[in-house]
Amino acid sequence: VPGTVSHLILDRDGVLNAEAEGGFVTRAEDWRWLPGVREALARLSAAGIRLSIATNQSGLGRGLMSAEDLARVHARMLGEATRAGATIAGVYVCPHAPADDCECRKPKPKLLLDALAASGVARAATVMVGDDRRDMEAAAAAGLAAVLLRSGKGAIHAEEMRGRGIPVYDDLPSYAQALLDRPGQSP
Ligand SMILES: [Mg+2]
Ligand SMILES: [Zn+2]
Repeated sequence: VPGTVSHLILDRDGVLNAEAEGGFVTRAEDWRWLPGVREALARLSAAGIRLSIATNQSGLGRGLMSAEDLARVHARMLGEATRAGATIAGVYVCPHAPADDCECRKPKPKLLLDALAASGVARAATVMVGDDRRDMEAAAAAGLAAVLLRSGKGAIHAEEMRGRGIPVYDDLPSYAQALLDRPGQSP
């Protein structure tokens, strides 16, 4: 069905979990799910919607955490998502600092394009969900529709993004509810 959303590419911090003080979740024990997010992920999975995560983690490139630290954070995230009934198809990470001028840090589109390529899902059926301007810009660069959430950093960008025609929702559970209430529509 044209317009049916069947793949969400989710930003991590501010979408799935609370942003840490200082900006970086460097330890698994500091991971805090935002309210209702695990349940929303499970409902989206049950509806057959593929879920990918695309996240800038410059704490690695800045030397604030190791690859092992990040692996432990993501092991907790994925373990708890799975136990809640959600399936995460892939996690795409930019580990670089802004000064590295890499090819993958959002607002560049590479993480999204990698998730798209791995999915086999059409661009038109894929939506980027984020809380930051960089997420919206990465989506535009990848040729994908985007949705802004007011959770995380999103509230400060909401008015501007709505002015650009980007749909705005309070948080991931709100968007999931809207999406599942009107199947066949996009985004
Ligand atoms: Mg974010
Ligand atoms: Zn990068």
